Amino acid sequence: MQKLTFYSTNRQSPEVYFSQALFQGQAPDRGLYMPGTIPVFQSGELRTLVDGTYPEIASYVLWKYLEGVFSKNELDRHCAAAYPFDVPLERIDGCTYVLRLDQGPTASFKDFAARLMARFMGALRPSTDRKLVVLTATSGDTGSAIAHAFFKVPGIDVVVLFPPDEVSTRQRKQMTTLGENITALGIDGKFDDCQALVKQAFSDPELDSIELSSANSINIGRLLPQIVYYVYASIRLGLQPLVFAIPSGNFGNTMGALLAKRMEVPIQKLLVATNANDEVPVYLSTATYRKIVPSRNCISNAMNVGHPSNFARVVDFYGGWMDETGTIRRPPNLEAMRHDVWTDSIGDEETRRAIRNVWQKHRLMLEPHGAVGWAGLERYRKNTGYSGIAVLVETAHPAKFPEEIGRLLGLSPEVPESLSEVETKMENVIPLPADYGQFRQFLSRRFAR
Ligand SMILES: *Cc1c(COP(=O)(O)O)cnc(C)c1O
Repeated sequence: MQKLTFYSTNRQSPEVYFSQALFQGQAPDRGLYMPGTIPVFQSGELRTLVDGTYPEIASYVLWKYLEGVFSKNELDRHCAAAYPFDVPLERIDGCTYVLRLDQGPTASFKDFAARLMARFMGALRPSTDRKLVVLTATSGDTGSAIAHAFFKVPGIDVVVLFPPDEVSTRQRKQMTTLGENITALGIDGKFDDCQALVKQAFSDPELDSIELSSANSINIGRLLPQIVYYVYASIRLGLQPLVFAIPSGNFGNTMGALLAKRMEVPIQKLLVATNANDEVPVYLSTATYRKIVPSRNCISNAMNVGHPSNFARVVDFYGGWMDETGTIRRPPNLEAMRHDVWTDSIGDEETRRAIRNVWQKHRLMLEPHGAVGWAGLERYRKNTGYSGIAVLVETAHPAKFPEEIGRLLGLSPEVPESLSEVETKMENVIPLPADYGQFRQFLSRRFAR
């Protein structure tokens, strides 16, 4: 029996079970799904996990949300299959640690959520005779994480649309060298054109015979796995009270951390560092929320977000309501939010300085996103005098940013095998104009029955 239901932050759509929320992505009322109850760890419960591996801890944590959706054995298997790589927690000095979420196949933390969501979708897909077709538009990183996550998952095909002129060679190869159930479409246009084609396909009745789904960042199947790394790090550090420093863009990681904290993992505070896109830090200090349009370009480019897609969840979490346009219809309890979250904005110069200083002082190579988090942590320690344990969440591998690192440190980061092995593989790209008629024709030829 499934216990948990998920409600929409707009509260107009009915509550649904997990698999419905998983395949819908966004609720029909355009809100985001949230778990109806948040389970809490009993005192001493987490101690039983001290010897657990990452997949074991993941399964334990997610079972609290997914009991009845899967058997415990099935969930164990999905977690083991999703996480066959290391999750290092490195000690930098007496009280600072770095949690490296960059050891997955595409060297970014996005692998964690995408790989588990892919397995959930593979296991729960509605009918076994029709293929599920996942459409995703990307400006680089998300597409490669999704493509790798779904690679060889039975019953699911992935079509990635990307603008060839806007992605790096390595990003492109991450999407075009897989083959099998992954198709890469090079769209002659911009990222926005790719996104528009995908949107139109979802609302096209002529494609009704194809089972389409999305894998976008607001999917509940991507949110839940992001709770796990905070529980894992906390267990590894003996469940002492600590703070996490989280470089944030769309606030998926931050939302995962908030859920972990409310589950009573001993987290004192979340230090949320944004780049120059400071709409959330400004909101916490002034109580006025304004999107930044267009978003500001920073070297931590995966965080160039002027209106975080998960922020409606954060507002809901503190009793408020933000609608799909980004308007706050009912203010959240800001005092409670400030109690849990400290936030600040870090500019590019400070980000670069952090990369240099950390390398000189600790021989630790950070990439621009992690460096935003580091600079945020330093500022927090300085402003508050906090000298306790802190864990920096490093969200990508430095080898993904060789130009910036090369300029700052005069050396090139070592490239992990997962990134270098694509260099010599055959690429397969289907070029298409940014034209909906042709995109539809491609989809029906390939998938309609
Ligand atoms: C996507 C991304 C982020 C932002 O994460 P959110 O959960 O959306 O805040 C940070 N760093 C890297 C490297 C990313 O790819």
